Amino acid sequence: EDTGEPPEPLHRADEGYAADNPNSPRINATLLALVRNEELGDMISSMRDLERTWNSKFNYPWTFFNDVPFSDDFIRLTRAATNATCNYEVIPEEHWAVPNWINSDLFDESAKMLEEQEIQYGPLVSYHQMCRWNSGMFYKHPALKDIRYYWRVEPKVHFFCEIDYDVFRWMQDHNKTYGFTINLYDAPQSIPTLWPETKKFIAAHPEYKHENNAEEWVVDSKRRPEHNMKANGYSTCHFWSNFEIADMEFWRSKAYEDYFEHLDRAGGFFYERWGDAPVHSIALGLFEDKNKIHWFRDIGYQHIPYFNCPKSPKCKGCVTGRFTDGERFLFKEDCRPNWFKYVGMD
Ligand code: GDP
Ligand code: MN
Repeated sequence: EDTGEPPEPLHRADEGYAADNPNSPRINATLLALVRNEELGDMISSMRDLERTWNSKFNYPWTFFNDVPFSDDFIRLTRAATNATCNYEVIPEEHWAVPNWINSDLFDESAKMLEEQEIQYGPLVSYHQMCRWNSGMFYKHPALKDIRYYWRVEPKVHFFCEIDYDVFRWMQDHNKTYGFTINLYDAPQSIPTLWPETKKFIAAHPEYKHENNAEEWVVDSKRRPEHNMKANGYSTCHFWSNFEIADMEFWRSKAYEDYFEHLDRAGGFFYERWGDAPVHSIALGLFEDKNKIHWFRDIGYQHIPYFNCPKSPKCKGCVTGRFTDGERFLFKEDCRPNWFKYVGMD
């Protein structure tokens, strides 16, 4: 059982662990970033933070993905930002292209509607492609074939706290599937039929539901009845997936694969603006043991405009305007109270 205590620092030094020794007992894992060449500066800024607070102690490889080849500058300057190995991967066309069953007239019409409802990025087809890739494609990339855990890192995010233990090792040792920092309500207009489609899927596959799931968190409507109504039964609570530390075996499971396939055929990645965050979150909330999902309260994190700011001397510069320390939740989109209500602090 987890005590909620932080793990011992570098707790595998006893096994001969040395961050700069490639033969050290590192977990089968990578840092993972989908990023555009134009975001080079913001990517380096994210890398600096994560290298300083964590990865320089462990040197896990970085794997960068792009729908077009990375530029020489991108490769040179990101390589220079880490001592770890860097891999640069192009996404295969068949993983990125808009599927042939998506009707482009219907997409254009929906895009207009999304725009009218002020859904951010609604009309931008590449944003839909990105959400679909993060939902059901990234872990199928040949470069990740033999990799199990990943830490997703976006450009322009910030990490504030010294982390002295191998978080991948921690995930494996504690048998965790998924780690998050921030948990939010989503814009219900972006996902009106996601929950109805999910219900159809579950009706056809009741066996995929985990007996110790977090369904109550998925459907709770008490704090946001209007969200629940507009999203047709889904609370819209989701793990904010620009940060994820997770075990790809879950995405590679038959349950998730069948679920993604069902959603993909339903078309909502394009006719609505289904994000990978609600898709991942609903799947985790229904198909996984809720005790295998972990809140990394100790990882200080920001992706504009939200923060996870631990109250700890190990954290520097975590702006506390939207302060959360596990007890106080001062922004209205924060759904962590619901998570703790149904699942607890760990
Ligand atoms: P937001 O966080 O929802 O505002 O969306 P972002 O613009 O940050 O996009 C999410 C992630 O996907 C970021 O890591 C982006 O770099 C990446 N991304 C988005 N669209 C594309 C794209 O068309 N090509 C590539 N290579 N990366 C993209
Ligand atoms: Mn982002």
